[in-house]
Amino acid sequence: MARESLAHRLRQAGLAVIQADDGETGRDLALTHKPDLIVCDQLAPRCNGFQLCRFLRAQPAPHGRALFVLATSGGYGVDRQGAVEAGADEYLVKPILEQDVARLLEFFGGAGNTTLAALPRPAKKAAGPSDPAGPGAIPPGPATVRFWGVRGSLPTPGPSTVHYGGNTSCVEVRADGQLIILDAGTGIHGLGLSLASEFKGVPLSMTLLISHTHWDHIQGLPFFDAAYNPANRLRILGYEGTQAGLHAALTSQMESPYFPVGFQQLPGHISIEEVKDSSFAIGPVEVKTMFLNHPGVCAGYRLNTSSGAIAYLPDNEPFQRYKYHTGQPEIAASAEFLRYARRLDARLGEFIRGADVLILDSQYDLNEYQTRAGWGHGCVDDVVALAVQAEVKRLFLFHHDPSHDDEKITRMAEWGQAFVAALHETLQVEAAREGLQVVLQPAPK
Ligand SMILES: [Zn+2]
Ligand SMILES: [Zn+2]
Repeated sequence: MARESLAHRLRQAGLAVIQADDGETGRDLALTHKPDLIVCDQLAPRCNGFQLCRFLRAQPAPHGRALFVLATSGGYGVDRQGAVEAGADEYLVKPILEQDVARLLEFFGGAGNTTLAALPRPAKKAAGPSDPAGPGAIPPGPATVRFWGVRGSLPTPGPSTVHYGGNTSCVEVRADGQLIILDAGTGIHGLGLSLASEFKGVPLSMTLLISHTHWDHIQGLPFFDAAYNPANRLRILGYEGTQAGLHAALTSQMESPYFPVGFQQLPGHISIEEVKDSSFAIGPVEVKTMFLNHPGVCAGYRLNTSSGAIAYLPDNEPFQRYKYHTGQPEIAASAEFLRYARRLDARLGEFIRGADVLILDSQYDLNEYQTRAGWGHGCVDDVVALAVQAEVKRLFLFHHDPSHDDEKITRMAEWGQAFVAALHETLQVEAAREGLQVVLQPAPK
């Protein structure tokens, strides 16, 4: 049930309904109208459902007393716990079915009150962070992608991972004069050393896009050499988390029990900014974002450069199969549920459509996935099918499982290639490998 249908259904029950397109607007409306019931999407843009709930709970009555319902697409245990901790009264897994509405109305206790339904849509307008480019040392030329960390979950050094590498997520993109870094897993350590030796003290202006703050995506930041050069400028962008803001999540790993240098002591010019919108620019590079199916708040990024599009979705579980495996069987098999899951997967397909390079979570093979459904990661069969449907040109299997050695990853890539061949498609499938550099071909003028 989409927001409009839910609002309609609540009106039918005799409730007055006000709607908001984003969390900030919802927050303002809640303060003005003091509703008795608030329904908010977990991933509401501009103020997620957890933050909104926490904010309202901190307000004096009557704001703090509204019945607060968080709606989510994922239904992960950790998010359910997060909803409880934020002070929510109910947690609904979308699509919201008629039986959910009935339960809501029963719980709410009847008509005649003012009700605020805020299941926001993604923001339409591009109004994100301003251009952070500044003076840079990146010469013009075709866009390049270089992998510095390709592993998921845990760094896995050792003789069995030498070929693909054991460092966690970090990808460097150079395009249109910009140096853009995707995530700060342990791979960013090698990137920092390489930049120092390449640029030899020439000041750098960099943008680091954080997909989410799970450890494997931020753990290398305290070891990023470029952050210790006072002449460098590092702009870190990402989304607010479910428990804490981006700043707190990134800097708390550098507090004294964990690390000897505090974030404030880093000599480089470093800023941390929370992105509010789903579209913004880094110099001439257009950035689009999309929330992925992964516990908490996890963003995928699409970089539209003058030489083509690069899509980075490091942690994601396709909805259709996830819903099938983890929902209550009778609901999961229902037509409405499957339609909803397909719609979300189709939205993801549109986000990556026609990308020249797609870097996508393919942590498991199909067998492993049977026992790991609902963990927030994809399997190679689904990922290849998604990339084929979206007419992607090159797919890089990413976020390799820490238990996978080089041989296993090679077999998974070969399986993906065989799958594409059987479909008579042209998609190129490779496993992302530390040190691999990909050069995009600029579009002919
Ligand atoms: Zn991860
Ligand atoms: Zn994660």
